[in-house]
Amino acid sequence: MMWRCRNCLRRYDWTRGHPTCPACGGPLDREAPIVFHPEAERSDAPGLWRYVPAMHLPMADSPVTLGEGRTPLQPVHLTQGRQVFVKREDLNPTGSVKDRAASVLFTWAREQGVEEVVTLATPNTLRSWRRYAARARLRVRAYGVAGMPSVRTRGIPVRRFPGTWWETMTALHRQETAVLVPYHPLAVDAYATIAYELVAQLGGAPGTVLAPVGQGALLLGIGRGFLALLQAGLIATMPRLVGVEPLARAGLWARAKGGREAHLWVRDEAPGPAVEAGRRFPWWGDLLLELVAWSQGRFLAVDDEAWARARDAFRRVGLYLQPESVLVWAGWAMHQREWPEPVVLILPGGKPSLWQRIGRRFRLRIFSKE
Ligand SMILES: [Zn+2]
Repeated sequence: MMWRCRNCLRRYDWTRGHPTCPACGGPLDREAPIVFHPEAERSDAPGLWRYVPAMHLPMADSPVTLGEGRTPLQPVHLTQGRQVFVKREDLNPTGSVKDRAASVLFTWAREQGVEEVVTLATPNTLRSWRRYAARARLRVRAYGVAGMPSVRTRGIPVRRFPGTWWETMTALHRQETAVLVPYHPLAVDAYATIAYELVAQLGGAPGTVLAPVGQGALLLGIGRGFLALLQAGLIATMPRLVGVEPLARAGLWARAKGGREAHLWVRDEAPGPAVEAGRRFPWWGDLLLELVAWSQGRFLAVDDEAWARARDAFRRVGLYLQPESVLVWAGWAMHQREWPEPVVLILPGGKPSLWQRIGRRFRLRIFSKE
């Protein structure tokens, strides 16, 4: 498998473990699109490892796994026979969709003989990375980002960095050890497994998929998964991809809607709920803009009031989801009649302690209009 720098177009066979180009610092990406080989699916493998062999990723078959993936797809009970589903990524082992990325990244790192990895100290990432690093027997160091909520870091040394997001990321990428971040190109591949699961669960392609944007890896990965299925002739249509961002940090929404002028006021440091879901320049932003437009999807910016309304609706039925999951729901509610069905809302995370108690088999009416 070959990798290419999106900036200088140099090619690499991928031994260094960074998401960036050693020559120019530009972002690396896979050189060729994902090809999905359904005959290589492993129905006996745990979780998302059913699909990883079908993508021919550069790793053998003893995965670092905690049972991530194969999350439930639950119908949302609404009136008028609407087909709306939630993909419960909050039911992954640490309560976050990032467990998919962690499983693939730590498997790969262990096979490369890596002993220590560095990452960004965001709460979901550290919760997930800590468990997977322990399973893989790797050490983790983290870089703290200004403006991020603090997180309990048991066993993971965190270096607080006083600069902006971008400066922190740049400092991180200069580290000598493997840099395993949730926007790593292998994480994008890991998120493609969500597309394969959705098609298996629905018996075909969804009409629309909504997910938070963040650095763009999640929605890009899901979109690439669908592209691979289209290419393999396993689905007939491309779902519309809809990226949801918080208004204060809606970088892609602003660029898609108003171009450079509208983009000027977007600030990475803007406070507000669900800010992890928005960036001025998401790492995968340019590619995601292209793919979302091609899928006839769009970007949505959710203001704080709409977010609070969605949060309260969940609380009334006893659900305490992560702010990014609430954001996706709020985005859907803003334009709910617009989307081709079935509509799938990707809920990226929940409150892990609660969900771990309740367990992966928990079934609940998520939300009801009745
Ligand atoms: Zn380069």
